[in-house]
Amino acid sequence: MFDLIIRGGDVVTPQGVVACDIAVAGETIAALTAPGTLEAGSAGRVIDATRQIVMPGGIDPHVHMHHPWTMPDGTPLITKGPEYVGIAALFGGTTTLIDFAYWREGATAQQALESRDKDFAGKSPCDWAYHIMLHTDPPPEFSSQLAEAIQAGYPTLKIFTTNIRPAGSGRMIDFGDIWEAFQVLAKHGGLGVIHAEDNDIVMHMYAKLIRENRVSFHNLAEVHNQLSEDLSFRRILRLAESVPGTALYMMHVSARTGVEAIAEARRKGLPIYGETLHQYLMYSAEDYKRPNGQIYHTYPSLKSPDDQKALWDGTVSDVIHCVATDELCCSLKDKTAGKRIDDTTGGNSGVEPRVGVMYTEMVTRRGYSLSRFVDLVSTNAARIMGLYPKKGAIAVGSDADIVILDPTRRGKVRAADLHETDYTPWEGHDIFAWPVVTLLRGKVMVENGQYFGSPNDGRYLKRKIPADVLNGARL
Ligand SMILES: [Zn+2]
Repeated sequence: MFDLIIRGGDVVTPQGVVACDIAVAGETIAALTAPGTLEAGSAGRVIDATRQIVMPGGIDPHVHMHHPWTMPDGTPLITKGPEYVGIAALFGGTTTLIDFAYWREGATAQQALESRDKDFAGKSPCDWAYHIMLHTDPPPEFSSQLAEAIQAGYPTLKIFTTNIRPAGSGRMIDFGDIWEAFQVLAKHGGLGVIHAEDNDIVMHMYAKLIRENRVSFHNLAEVHNQLSEDLSFRRILRLAESVPGTALYMMHVSARTGVEAIAEARRKGLPIYGETLHQYLMYSAEDYKRPNGQIYHTYPSLKSPDDQKALWDGTVSDVIHCVATDELCCSLKDKTAGKRIDDTTGGNSGVEPRVGVMYTEMVTRRGYSLSRFVDLVSTNAARIMGLYPKKGAIAVGSDADIVILDPTRRGKVRAADLHETDYTPWEGHDIFAWPVVTLLRGKVMVENGQYFGSPNDGRYLKRKIPADVLNGARL
């Protein structure tokens, strides 16, 4: 006896797209069978997915929820938390979110994780995990604590090579400490997740543009520029190369220079992976000129059409493996409060339209196979971040995180139809498919526009980076 059968869909499996039925028992997938071979009476419920696409739940490996941030006028603000963003994610076909636990001065890694749990436990309808984020110079006991955290199921460490903005709160880690961190990661099977920008170039450009009185946010691409991405990526990749076994995931790649640096590292066989964001693929610095142009921005910055082309090429050449959002959910008023190069906030409201918008751009407009699309919005993140095949796969034994996409759906993205906030950078974007059913571990969370989830449904996901990823597997 099964709890649920999903019948008649085109199912994106690890072996390709297969017409089959899926049987769910409890929280996991119990069987995949030829269409029509499971008796309707053998399950509590049957969902008909005829002429629809059935895929694993989306995974967004880069989101910021319940994130403290200071407005340009000094007012502290906390962005929307998982109790809110998680619902939007589920409506949009994403079932797993990976956020950050801030390892601040004076705290242990364990305390950093426990304090972040308070923002999530009993509040997140999605499954979730954290990257441990170094926020200040690492404490003396850093190495042993990091090793323990990796063993305990927290194997990813976020490192910044820049303070991002002149008033940025000391996030930059110096290269000696990063070197130390890489030795721990390499020895214990961890993965570095990196925000790389060249701090000297970026801060020089801030000073120069402020001196020249060209402080409007429209000039952000001059500050967070291609040269900065080139120098910073090559420096940190060279450091990684010097510590054999160091595996890195380069977050929010935005420029051709970044794509080329990762491609070169991968040609050498190094375990380096690339992430971009959907707005870097779809928007360029020209979009800053549109009304409320800040809504397209996150750090580093939007770049040029040539950079976009390189990012797209990277999605088919084993350089860009994941498309994430850098989600930061706030109101339009708050997102556009900063108007200068040094006070405009990063982050984006994008977790809900990500899967639908990427379907339009990848499958409809660029002819990507369904399998490649699913790799880029789900499976590769599961593999790199140590969640596969529990997550990111429709296979026997995997968690029943299942999304049914309706490929006959036509329309435009409208903020008013979403569940995030009062704006979306994707307003007016064409829709060619949209999630109609989202299951999390066997439970129907969203069906035909109705929400059935609860804040207690999500679970923390402990992770282990697999050996093939640490060895530089081609994805
Ligand atoms: Zn981010």
